[in-house]
Amino acid sequence: MKINVIGGGPAGLYFAILMKKASASHQIKIYERNGPDDTFGWGVVFSGKTLANLRAADEISHAEITKQFKAWDNVDVVHWNTKVSIHGNSFSGIARLQLLKILQRRAEQLGVEIEFRTEIHDIESLRKDCDLLVAADGVNSTVRLRYAEQFQPELDLRTNRYIWYGTHQLFHGLTLTFRENAAGVFAAHSYKFNPTTSTFIVECDPQTWANAGFEQMSADDTLSYVGDVFAEDLKGHKLLSNNSKWINFLLVKNGNWWFENVVLLGDALHTAHFSIGSGTKLAMEDAIALAETFQQTTDVSGALAQFAETRRPVIEDYQAAAFESMRWFENASQYTHLSPIELAFVLMTRSGRVSYDDLKRRDPQFIGRYERRGSF
Ligand SMILES: Cc1cc2nc3c(=O)[nH]c(=O)nc-3n(C[C@H](O)[C@H](O)[C@H](O)COP(=O)(O)OP(=O)(O)OC[C@H]3O[C@@H](n4cnc5c(N)ncnc54)[C@H](O)[C@@H]3O)c2cc1C
Repeated sequence: MKINVIGGGPAGLYFAILMKKASASHQIKIYERNGPDDTFGWGVVFSGKTLANLRAADEISHAEITKQFKAWDNVDVVHWNTKVSIHGNSFSGIARLQLLKILQRRAEQLGVEIEFRTEIHDIESLRKDCDLLVAADGVNSTVRLRYAEQFQPELDLRTNRYIWYGTHQLFHGLTLTFRENAAGVFAAHSYKFNPTTSTFIVECDPQTWANAGFEQMSADDTLSYVGDVFAEDLKGHKLLSNNSKWINFLLVKNGNWWFENVVLLGDALHTAHFSIGSGTKLAMEDAIALAETFQQTTDVSGALAQFAETRRPVIEDYQAAAFESMRWFENASQYTHLSPIELAFVLMTRSGRVSYDDLKRRDPQFIGRYERRGSF
């Protein structure tokens, strides 16, 4: 089969790897507008369950990925300058760039052709030139836009703003920090992803953003303003920018996932709010699901229909949980009157996927503290 892939992010690369691994006779070409070492952002997070899925799909890249991993079991909630730790959660972090390098190497070893620094504008020609066109071109997918009539996308630009920084202050565990100043409430999502660096994502509601005056502020002033808000947490370390800008989260859904020989994959197909840390996981698990359907049939429309049928309920379930989590952060200022232990409890149960009983099983000490909270 001749397969063209637009986008060399986790979805496109991983799908190419799995297809080529299944049959060396597939002719697969990935078109990526960036160079092999360019990337946005810092680290990404995987759960223990995702790692098991990656191992089952491709042991070689799994071994490389886990060699680089920083693993932890705690979520820390910082509020009123008090840290509450909740244990029994299994997460790992890796630099996005490192992950992409591992996947690029593996794809090239298997014989996938990657054309870097090639931005695709003429999508229709590329589509006509192959049996299958995979649109793994990210959240602002041009393929989705080009065939909007066929895909029926539903795009919802949310009101909260967020910015993705790094820092050399190390946060050992997924740390959710709340700080308030005269402008309003700021929340930081941070975690270490290599021995020297942590991701540090900051979000706030539109009112707080306007009050702080970010609209008129330069990138340097923004960095130092946000650094001041979290000065207690950064302990003298600076925030690091990677061309970091405030953005609004874009919630993506599509009425149709495929037509004729074109299929959307990863962020182009769906997004889930970063507070449940699932974007890369979902992108790679999409790739697994799509590659699996091609094991059962080589009929392209049959495989794409089957992919949409089996994968859609899984994605809808995730998006529903991520929506609750996103709404929680959009309304974070309504919860900051709670004590640290109470805030930690409502945060842990915000998406509806983790119950009181789950927490009791994972970390009985935390639930014990929560039960005795009157005395704290
Ligand atoms: C603030 C923030 C925090 C996040 N945190 C996490 C996290 O903790 N854990 C997690 O799992 N995920 C996280 N994510 C999400 C994650 O980054 C994405 O969900 C994931 O990268 C999606 O993979 P993808 O392959 O679908 O798309 P991308 O990684 O976006 O890849 C798409 C690729 O397509 C290329 N491209 C686009 N258009 C064209 C074109 N016309 N021609 C050629 N190339 C093109 C782009 O250059 C890009 O390389 C986070 C995202 C954000 C914004």
